[in-house]
Order: sequence, then structure tokens, then C-alpha cells
Amino acid sequence: MGERVAGWFRAGRRIGNRPDGLTSWRVTTPDAAAAATVAELLGGRPVLNREGEEEGFEVVTQEAAVAVQLCGRGSVRTELMQWTAKGLVHHCDATEYLSPDGERGRPCGCPRLPDERRRRAREGRGPLPVTRVLFRLGGALSAGVFGFRSGSWEFAGAAAAIRVELPEGGPVNGRLVLRPQEWRGAEGGAVLFHRPLLEVRQSDGEWSVSAHGRCRAGAGDPAV
Ligand SMILES: [Zn+2]
Repeated sequence: MGERVAGWFRAGRRIGNRPDGLTSWRVTTPDAAAAATVAELLGGRPVLNREGEEEGFEVVTQEAAVAVQLCGRGSVRTELMQWTAKGLVHHCDATEYLSPDGERGRPCGCPRLPDERRRRAREGRGPLPVTRVLFRLGGALSAGVFGFRSGSWEFAGAAAAIRVELPEGGPVNGRLVLRPQEWRGAEGGAVLFHRPLLEVRQSDGEWSVSAHGRCRAGAGDPAV
């Protein structure tokens, strides 16, 4: 999927060095038109932002659940990466190396069990997951392909389960959700945070796949 990403959905933000939880999705984009579409569809207003992750616009929306349309298996992808002072020293899909080119496709030696991979990463001996979901907005299919990235093992596990069920191609409807969850620290204090989840809608046990395998299908969609 070599398409340019119109904007990124983000599950929180940082103020200075401090993480600041948000109860609704935040979207960053370099594109004024994409920012306007997001604000119209999901609430909030575009603000010019020069200090965030990327220069451009930021919209703190009013929605914790967003209707999305995935396009087949390529929409959900997890890579594992280990960065050190030397740079990217391990880049794989948990089975084979993805880079550098000379190593691509060779067995990478990561453990087969996710829990084991997670333990190795915690000990600084293995790579961490980066899961990327690409989607169109259910309410504005023509507004381009948006993305969401997560570094969480839980999200990677859930994404892998969804991925194997997705058809090779063709549009599938789902939702990107920020679900409130309580976390109890060692001190016993409860912290409320919002966990990002990808849900793929099912009706009568069927995947919600549009009848015709055209991912960009949408009434009035320009032929991009
Ligand atoms: Zn590996």
C-alpha cells in the first residue's frame, strides 16, 4: 500500500515531558483539507501545530470511537524493531528479517511464543512491536488513507488475530476505539487510561465485507 497517509490518529499527547491522556482521538496531519474533514466529521477544530510530532495541523476530536474501513490484510501490519545506539539492529516480522536488504527473508531467531518475545524485549535482548493500521474514514471515504500506530504488545496481539481473519483484499468495516480502563499501580492507586482498540464489526458471525472487492468504493468518491 504505497499511498500517502493523510493523517495519523493518536491516542494521547505529551505536554512537555508528561504524557497527557485524552478521552477522544487526536489527529495530526500536514494537510489543511484533511484537518478540516476530520473536524467536520469528528468534532474539534484544526489548530496549527509546530511543536508536535510533525509540523502541520492537529485536531483533538470529540469522538472516542471512529468508523473505519480497512482494505484487506495489508491494512494491519506489525513489525518488530530493536533500536540501540548503533541504530536499528533487529527488524523482523517475528519470523524473518525485514531489513537490511541482505538479511531480508532469513530466519531472525525470535521466539515463537509472544510471551517469550515480550520477555526478551523487556530484558533488552529483543525487538519491540510497532503495529500500523491503515484505513479510510467510514464517514469520508474519499478523504484519503489515515493511519494509527501502536507500540503495545496487547494491540499487536489483537491486531494479529484480526489480520488472519481479514480477506486478502476488499473493504472491511470496523471501528477504532479508545476504551476507558482502570489500572492499579503497585501503590494501590487507580489510574484511568484509555486503551486503543481495533474492532472489526461482525453481524451474524459474518465479517462486514462489502460485496464488491473495491476498497475505495464510496458514493461520489473521486477516481484517485
Ligand atoms: Zn526477530
